[in-house]
Amino acid sequence: MSSAFDLVCLSHDPGISVRMITDSAEVRTLDGAHEWMRSRTQHEACDVVIVRVSGGPVEVICPPSGCSAHSNSVVRVDVPWLRLLWAAQQCDKNTPAGRAAEQAASCWSTTRLHRLRHELDVVRLESP
Ligand SMILES: [Zn+2]
Ligand SMILES: [Zn+2]
Repeated sequence: MSSAFDLVCLSHDPGISVRMITDSAEVRTLDGAHEWMRSRTQHEACDVVIVRVSGGPVEVICPPSGCSAHSNSVVRVDVPWLRLLWAAQQCDKNTPAGRAAEQAASCWSTTRLHRLRHELDVVRLESP
């Protein structure tokens, strides 16, 4: 299945897809997504991540811009892994899962993952 790339702005809660309001209807390549990031005229000062979509969201790509944790590199993580991290972040900090979440978080803070909740489809995992 071919993939496309969405751009999600995490400066808003919940994060909003900004691909929908770009002129190009669809971003087909990762290069295209990075190019959009560099030349964007909307959400310029925002925390924007790239989401690879193939059927559903499969991977989240954090570019250097807007992320203070890794100014020169790109961080790519699979959506299932972020779901696990999100779940571990719901645990008390004194539990093994809570401690592991702190160590594994990198730039994926609880705030950012909460804003990504719809892309990660973790809303359904939340306790009633
Ligand atoms: Zn924004
Ligand atoms: Zn990052």
